[in-house]
This record gives sequence, structure tokens and C-alpha cells, in this order.
Amino acid sequence: MNLKDHVAEITKRLKKLYPNAAVELDYGTAFELMVASILAAQNTDVNVNKLTPELFRKYRTPQDYLDVPVEELERDIYASGFFRQKAKSIRAVSQMLVDEFGGEMPQTMEDMLRLPGVGRKTANVVLGEAFGIAAGIVVDTHNIRLSRLLGISEQKNADKIERELLDLVPKKDWIKYSQLITWHGRRVCNAKKPNCGGCVLSDLCPSVQAS
Ligand code: SF4
Repeated sequence: MNLKDHVAEITKRLKKLYPNAAVELDYGTAFELMVASILAAQNTDVNVNKLTPELFRKYRTPQDYLDVPVEELERDIYASGFFRQKAKSIRAVSQMLVDEFGGEMPQTMEDMLRLPGVGRKTANVVLGEAFGIAAGIVVDTHNIRLSRLLGISEQKNADKIERELLDLVPKKDWIKYSQLITWHGRRVCNAKKPNCGGCVLSDLCPSVQAS
């Protein structure tokens, strides 16, 4: 089987297994997804989802994050960890949105990457999930790990893996593909203890372990 067919078969099986795969951060607007993505760094989506309902009730627009003293925002996001850096990041993004984008989220990769601290992963998450725009493929830690385990890429760098995936995955699946891989990484191919015995990809996987 060539590599494109290998990836197509993986995608087909995971689509069947996870018909409802989607980002697991709770959000209502593209801007909320951006804030939730910043908060999720070094933390889990589950923890962030406990914090955001109240946060998003209090802060509705980018300007709202700029109108409070930074210490107040730090207190409000304290539970997400690294709260000082995250408060700084949220305010820097908010400031640019207000100054250059009329308080709205941009909808192109080029503009997203102008936002301070925003890399391709977050830009792809927001564009794909919130706007349905397939500008690239989200490569998170699960995608890096599973790409190697499944023999899809030997790269370690997320941007290099994304470039390879863009050639292997049809554009219509760019958004769905990363959701599926992330779900599989969370539910079956766990970093510490992959459940190879219960994995629908075991006959395709060069890293399968006897269980
Ligand atoms: S067979 Fe094992 S290592 Fe391969 S994808 Fe499945 S769980 Fe991961």
C-alpha cells in the first residue's frame, strides 16, 4: 500500500469509529476558541472547559479583556496554570484585534499568523473549527506522535509534518483528519499505554505492540 492509500485507509477507519470527532474545547465564537486555545497550553481541554463558562460570561469581546487590570484577568484564569503568560497573550491578541481587525477575528492564515504568539496550530484550529476554513492541518502532540507511530512521517517538527500531510490528505479531509487523529491519541493510542489490542489500526500500524 502506498503512503497516500495508507493515510486514506486510516482516515476511513477513524471516521467510522469517531463520526462525531470535533475539537473538545467548549466555545461559542471564534474569539472564544482562540482564548480557550491559549488557556489549553500545558493543560487539558477538560480543565479549560471548567473555567471558560464563567470567563466567557464576564469577557465577551477583545475589548473586555483590555478593560480590566491585568491582575484581575490573571485571577480569573489562574486555574489554567501559567496564568501570567496566558493573561499577557490574551491581552496582546485582544489589542491587535481591536487595533487592526475592528475587534473581529481574521479569517485567513496570513492574518491569523500576524496575531502575537499565534502559530499555525492555533490558527488552523480556529480557522477550521470556528469558520470551517481548511487552510492547513492541525498538528498537535497527538498528531506528531501518531504520525511517527503509524509510519506516516519521520519528522519531529510540527510544521514539517503538516507540509507532508498536506500532500497526503485530500483537502476535503484536512479539518477532519486532525480531529480524528487527536481523538484516537486520546482514547486508544495513549502516549503512556497504547491500547494496541483494541485499536482498529493495528493491522496497518508498524508500531503495534503485542498485548
Ligand atoms: S496499533 Fe498501537 S501504536 Fe499503533 S496506532 Fe494503534 S494503539 Fe497506537
